[in-house]
Order: sequence, then structure tokens, then C-alpha cells
Amino acid sequence: MAIAGHERNILHLDMDAFFAAVEQHDNPRLKGKPVIVCGDPEGRGVVSTASYEARPFGVKAGMPVAQAKRLCPQGVFIKGDIQKYIKLSLQIIDILKTFTPLVEPYSIDESFLDVTGCEGLFGPPVGIAKLIKAEIRRKFDLTCSIGVAPNKLLAKMASDFQKPDGLVVIRQEDVPEKIWPLPVRALMGVGEKTEKVLHGLGIKTIGDLARYPVEPLEYRLGVVGKALHAMAWGIDNSPVRPSGLPIKSMSNEYTLPEDTTNQEILKAHIMRLSCEVGRRLRKNGYVGRTVNIKLRYHDFITITRSESLRDFTDSDKAICEKAWELFLRNWQK
Ligand SMILES: [Mg+2]
Repeated sequence: MAIAGHERNILHLDMDAFFAAVEQHDNPRLKGKPVIVCGDPEGRGVVSTASYEARPFGVKAGMPVAQAKRLCPQGVFIKGDIQKYIKLSLQIIDILKTFTPLVEPYSIDESFLDVTGCEGLFGPPVGIAKLIKAEIRRKFDLTCSIGVAPNKLLAKMASDFQKPDGLVVIRQEDVPEKIWPLPVRALMGVGEKTEKVLHGLGIKTIGDLARYPVEPLEYRLGVVGKALHAMAWGIDNSPVRPSGLPIKSMSNEYTLPEDTTNQEILKAHIMRLSCEVGRRLRKNGYVGRTVNIKLRYHDFITITRSESLRDFTDSDKAICEKAWELFLRNWQK
């Protein structure tokens, strides 16, 4: 728990329906219409972002385009322009950095800011959040939602409370009233698997988790159990880590059931692994630029090679082509 005098003021900013809002801004005829941004409107891709007009039809990010078309036949389906969104995302980060150097880009449309000690210059945290919202609206005519809290965990939950165009403050003492009634799934880090384990213990809400004794949680889920229990109490001491862009990696690997030198078989596996990575990137709204391959031979000699692409991408094709090129250049047969 924070010690008096050491309380932090953390903001979490989340752009509202970012890709769709950018498209509506660039083409005013799309304003007020259900706009659905996706990888390929004619293909088998998934939805990247649905505008708020499309959401009442049940269209959601990560949904197959074909399903979105069934739910919302009148939707305007647009192929996303990731380079454009990245450029804008970097401009938004520049605005945030005028308030504090402690800006941590979390995804293409989300950032954490530590504004502790910035009161003298810009006023209290809520005032700073209002200034940021006004500046983003003035410069780009876009809205965002901001959560204000003593840590990243609560700030992120707060920004989700009142979308779009929200501004929500959660203090440590608000946790029982505002956080505990939410389903455990709403807690960062609780995926389908963990949710199942928790449900099995009779834990449905974050409040149930907070009141559950920590030892059996640790027994069932290891360190994760202990961490989740602390999170249910709204405790999170992780710092805001400033950086240029979020550095993360996503990978998939596969051990062949038997050794092979058949190039066609190897190519099929590389394609499949690349598509798997691409799908996860798109599902989570990430793009990447560096492709790494790892090859392990029958004698366990392992090599890794990497090379960067010219542009950021979440395309299966771009990942696969680069991975295959790296493979051919380095494969010792
Ligand atoms: Mg967003």
C-alpha cells in the first residue's frame, strides 16, 4: 500500500474506437455511420475496431469479418491503414509528453502517464486529464477516455468505466464500492483459463477474490494467485516505464514429431506459425517490425536470426515472407 506522501497520480488514456474514429475524421461522410475497420473487408480477416455506431449490432474487435457482415449488413467496412494510425499514435504521445516525461505507450491507442508532482505546473490530476482531452480534441478532433488513480491497474480499469469520452477517478478507498462488484474477468491478467479456476473455487466477482484466503489461491495458481489477490485489493506498485514504443514480442514455436529435410513440409510449418503470430497481433491490436526465427536441429544445435521490416505490420504474409527468407538463408539442411 502506498505510504502517505508517496501516493502516485497515474493516468491511463484510451482512445475511443481509435481506428474507426480516425477513418470517420478523415472522411466526414462516415460520421454517425457504423464503421468497421478490418484487415481485409473482402477476405477472411477479423475486425480491428468497430465504431460506436456499429457496437449496438454486436460487432466487436477480434470478430471474423464475415460474422460482422451478418450482424451489421449496413456497416461500412474499411481496410485499416496501420501506418496512418501509428503516425497519429506517435503524435498523441508527443502531446502527452508535454505534460510529463513519464509516458508509457501501452498499445497503439493506450498510454499510462505518471503525473505525480506535476500539480504545480498543470494543476491536479483531473485537471491534467481535462487538458489532455481538450488538446486531443482540438488537434485531431478525436475523443479519448481517461482513468485517474493511484496506480496503473486502477487507472486502466477507470478509463474503461465511462467510454466514450469518459473521465473517471478511482481512489484506493473506492475499490470495494467500484471494483469489487465487477466479474473477476475484468481484472488484468485474468483470461479464460484463470477465470475457470476461480469460478471453480466459487469466485465470481473481484470482491469474492479479495475476500478469499490467499494461501489456497497460491496453491492453485502459484505466484499468479498471490498477485491476483493483491490486485483484487487494488494494489499495484508497477512503475510507469517511459519508452518510445511498447516493446513486446509474440512468438510461436513447434517441434516436429520427426526430423525432416523436406523443404515443402518446413515451409508449411513456417507459414502456419507466421499466421498464428499474425492472428495474435491483430487480435491484441499490436504491430511489429522485427521478425525472429529460431531453428533447432536434431542434435539440439539452435540458431536464431532476426531482421527488421521497413514498416510495422500485423500481416501474416509480411511475417511469413520474412521468416521464410531468413530460414532459406540460414538453413543448414
Ligand atoms: Mg481504445
